[in-house]
Amino acid sequence: MSCIFCKIAAGEIPSTAVHEDARIYAFADVNPRAPVHILIVPREHIGSLSEAGAHHGDLLGHLLWTAAEIAREKGLGKGYRVVINSGPDGGQTVDHLHLHLFGGRQMTWPPG
Ligand code: 5GP
Ligand code: ZN
Repeated sequence: MSCIFCKIAAGEIPSTAVHEDARIYAFADVNPRAPVHILIVPREHIGSLSEAGAHHGDLLGHLLWTAAEIAREKGLGKGYRVVINSGPDGGQTVDHLHLHLFGGRQMTWPPG
């Protein structure tokens, strides 16, 4: 197992946990791009959103719902942004599906 997010989810690499359950793990991004910047990953290794299948529908929904739940816990009542980068053109740098939860400042549009 060489995937860094698999190792983080398994507790083999230290991280600042924000939320966890049997299927997912959420932790603070090491290089935050907003006052709140949290990564939410499935414990199952899925390389990217493109590699998710129909049988992952429940898990994908759970990831999204958890992002909203964490946003509530963090007091992001004014809003927030959830991002999934997929593949090189999407800006994905870690090949394990993850959601970014950004909050605590005004987001700009369109993203770069
Ligand atoms: P991507 O560019 O693939 O969408 O996002 C990868 C994110 O993972 C980046 O925001 C980067 O800062 C974060 N990241 C990379 N390595 C680590 C790490 O070892 N620990 C933590 N907490 N975040 C990481
Ligand atoms: Zn992985």
